[in-house]
Amino acid sequence: MWTEENQAGLGLRGETAPPGNLLLRALPWHDLKLLDRFLHSVPLTQRRVLQHAGFPIEYVYFIEEGLVSALAKADDCDAVEVGLIGRDGIVGNTVILGAQTSTFCYFVQIGGSALRIGVEDLNRVLPELPRLRQALQGYMHLSLVQSAQTAACSLRHPCEQRLASWLLMARDRSDKDQLLITQDLLARSLGVRRPTVSEALKSLQQRGVFVKDRGWIRILDRAGLERIACRCYRTMCRYGDAWKRSTAGRKTIAALSLICTLFEIEAAVQ
Ligand SMILES: [Zn+2]
Repeated sequence: MWTEENQAGLGLRGETAPPGNLLLRALPWHDLKLLDRFLHSVPLTQRRVLQHAGFPIEYVYFIEEGLVSALAKADDCDAVEVGLIGRDGIVGNTVILGAQTSTFCYFVQIGGSALRIGVEDLNRVLPELPRLRQALQGYMHLSLVQSAQTAACSLRHPCEQRLASWLLMARDRSDKDQLLITQDLLARSLGVRRPTVSEALKSLQQRGVFVKDRGWIRILDRAGLERIACRCYRTMCRYGDAWKRSTAGRKTIAALSLICTLFEIEAAVQ
């Protein structure tokens, strides 16, 4: 996948593309080379379930393109989104804590692709890759913060603000202004009924922040969306930025403690 010639620029000048996943891209060349033989590219088709809740985790997915929702089961026939994973993220990283089964269901919201590694292969190679372990742990911490913030958001903020936040997060994680998403999937992500999301979409569209048609939304005014979005978007950006800086600097994100998350929840419910 990557060649020796790519060493200096991580493939930017090589015949093959560098990894689309930002976490992999931040790893040293030597680590990527060790990992490369275990990674396999897989398509992520929309509505595919990568991992079912309660089932064994067989693979870890480094998302390269598209968006994956982490869904927590609310009752027998319903599930609520507790996380959104794009090219800056991973599915299945709880295996480094020794988890053998998946806590959440991971569902492809927007199609794309991922690099996949078998759990046995990952466990075999991980002792040689301390920076990858550090990155997986850091991303897990970030996921925890995101889940807590999402819970606070769904309890306190109106659908229109939450929709604006969701669109911004989806845009950031996919790096695309045009999102291939249906109203049904949006309603599932926000944990609301379809008429509720339809009304919020109509209101936002009238304010000119995006245009939409059947199956897609194109963001026109990012700054306008940011003004509408609830504070949860900015909070998650702050944590995400801190994590990216720590990944680039080969540090842990120890500064982000769960206490911060609790403070955010407390602030959100006041
Ligand atoms: Zn919110």
